[in-house]
Amino acid sequence: MQGTAPNAARRAPAPVFDVCIVGSGAGGGMAAHALTNAGARVVMLEAGGEWYASKNSKMLFPAYVSPKRGASTKARQFGEFDACDGGWDIDGEPYTVANGNQFRWWRARMLGGRTNHWGRISLRFGPDDFRGKTRDGLGDDWPISYDDVAPYYDRIDRLIGLFGSNEGLRNHPDGIFQPPPKPRCYELLVKKASDRLNVTCIPARLSIITEKLNGREGCHYCGQCNRGCTVKANFSSPDVLIAPALKTGRLRLITNAMAREVAVGPDGLATGVYYVDKNTGEDRFVRARVVVLAASALESARILLNSKSPKFPQGLANSSGTVGKYITDTTGTDVGGFIPAMADHVPHNEDGVGGMHVYMPWWLDNAKLDFPRGYHIEVWGGLSAPGAGFMGGIHRYPPGGGYGQQLKEDYRRYYGATIGFSGRGEMIPNADTYCEVDPNVVDRFGIPVLRFHWKWADYEYNQVKHMQETFRALVAEMGGTVFSQMPTKAQGYNIATGGTIIHELGGARMGADASTSVLNANCQAHDCKNLFVTDGAPFVSQADKNPTWTILALAWRSADYITAQRKAGAL
Ligand SMILES: Cc1cc2nc3c(=O)[nH]c(=O)nc-3n(C[C@H](O)[C@H](O)[C@H](O)COP(=O)(O)OP(=O)(O)OC[C@H]3O[C@@H](n4cnc5c(N)ncnc54)[C@H](O)[C@@H]3O)c2cc1C
Ligand code: SF4
Repeated sequence: MQGTAPNAARRAPAPVFDVCIVGSGAGGGMAAHALTNAGARVVMLEAGGEWYASKNSKMLFPAYVSPKRGASTKARQFGEFDACDGGWDIDGEPYTVANGNQFRWWRARMLGGRTNHWGRISLRFGPDDFRGKTRDGLGDDWPISYDDVAPYYDRIDRLIGLFGSNEGLRNHPDGIFQPPPKPRCYELLVKKASDRLNVTCIPARLSIITEKLNGREGCHYCGQCNRGCTVKANFSSPDVLIAPALKTGRLRLITNAMAREVAVGPDGLATGVYYVDKNTGEDRFVRARVVVLAASALESARILLNSKSPKFPQGLANSSGTVGKYITDTTGTDVGGFIPAMADHVPHNEDGVGGMHVYMPWWLDNAKLDFPRGYHIEVWGGLSAPGAGFMGGIHRYPPGGGYGQQLKEDYRRYYGATIGFSGRGEMIPNADTYCEVDPNVVDRFGIPVLRFHWKWADYEYNQVKHMQETFRALVAEMGGTVFSQMPTKAQGYNIATGGTIIHELGGARMGADASTSVLNANCQAHDCKNLFVTDGAPFVSQADKNPTWTILALAWRSADYITAQRKAGAL
């Protein structure tokens, strides 16, 4: 009898999970939380290793404990204490960019993906953001409206939590907010200047809890959110979504599992996912009745394009030829300035959350401007803990450089006297901006990689010009001096390279028409009813808002649809 158990185990058929989710970031974590709580047995494939801020964060490490003083490393490209494994370049996992184009792709490879270090600016899309084409004839309308998503925004507000203030602004919907932190000293100056220039300036909306919520502690204002929060006061998928999903006993998590292809049966339905076990290099397969891709927008498009079969020769869910198309990033540009009124300040503690306490939502009417769609303004500056590169560029301040005592005095004098503004705006999808499989390059697992094509239109250049002019006016209104010349048209008004704002969306957009879209209004593939995508890929358009609160809301909405369809026996 002793010998029978291993043989029996070997002969045992592989389990068939109710749902296989690829990726554990915002979209995957939310889907796993909702589906396991609704009773589904879920397997999750995650390309990176386990990481929980509550256990692994370096939240309170002072920079001086490290010889590198927190400077970036190859594995931690935003600083050695930053919470993200991954970066612009990952060993053995290239992507390519078409000749003459520019694009950069930030990828996380860890449990929770980029939610471990994101900025946590958590903005609902407004009613206008779902019907761009109706408003100005550009891009496309979504097949859903704000009213379809609003109940799910409410639910994530309650489950995950965020701070903010109810302002009654038409296209910047209010939410279920915890109290926001007070503005810091420099933010009060920004607010005054904004009021004088009629730029709307209100408390920020960040998914950081300022009071206890669902067993998590409120923020203690250490300002280190990008390192991950050991008391779980900010949102990250592992601590807030995956850990509770694991507690249900219905989530099987497989880390270091690089998904490469969704398999389909003769009936055209998905049967599971092939993945490479990064620990052994072996190719494996996991079976499931429903497949949910949430590997991040462009990675999900890549998996679909690589899932070729006789039935789907151009890739899965791609009968419309639109997988990889209609991709966008947020537009962006920055301006920093020196504000003499803040030099020689009285030393004071202005610690707060790891992010801004005020921001400016889009406040103008595009009908009076030479570009469509808006942008919001993010504010930075102040007295954050010094680290590597601290006060670089001090030679630009009067008296213009120095050594020894003079330099030390300058540091004390000017520390905290710099402020800056970053614009984050809406790009219109265009036919020259897309990704496809590069026929000549594979990654270290043998998986074909993506090749990017990227082009900004005058819409985006004109919008960024407006950002530059606005930020310069704000610095001047604060009595300050801007460090840089106004960039010219030939310099593209310093528009950030495509991808570098790290809000890439689209690639498997939703739509009512199966000939021009990949997914339906429930993020379900038109061509394959048991295949769903719940990251940024289904987005029809950007907005003047950061996307993650909407990724979370749509993922929960899709999970509810899957649950209802399973109950009805349709999946
Ligand atoms: C520094 C920074 C600041 C940001 N700030 C904000 C902000 O303030 N507000 C906002 O709304 N958004 C912000 N973002 C964007 C935000 O992080 C993303 O929108 C969000 O994380 C996307 O969620 P996702 O689930 O689609 O992808 P991710 O969070 O990237 O998760 C994808 C997961 O899939 C895994 N994966 C990838 N490929 C595979 C594969 N083949 N097989 C298995 N697993 C795979 C990855 O390891 C990862 O865990 C920021 C991003 C960065 C980097
Ligand atoms: S600022 Fe608050 S939320 Fe951010 S890491 Fe510190 S305690 Fe956590």
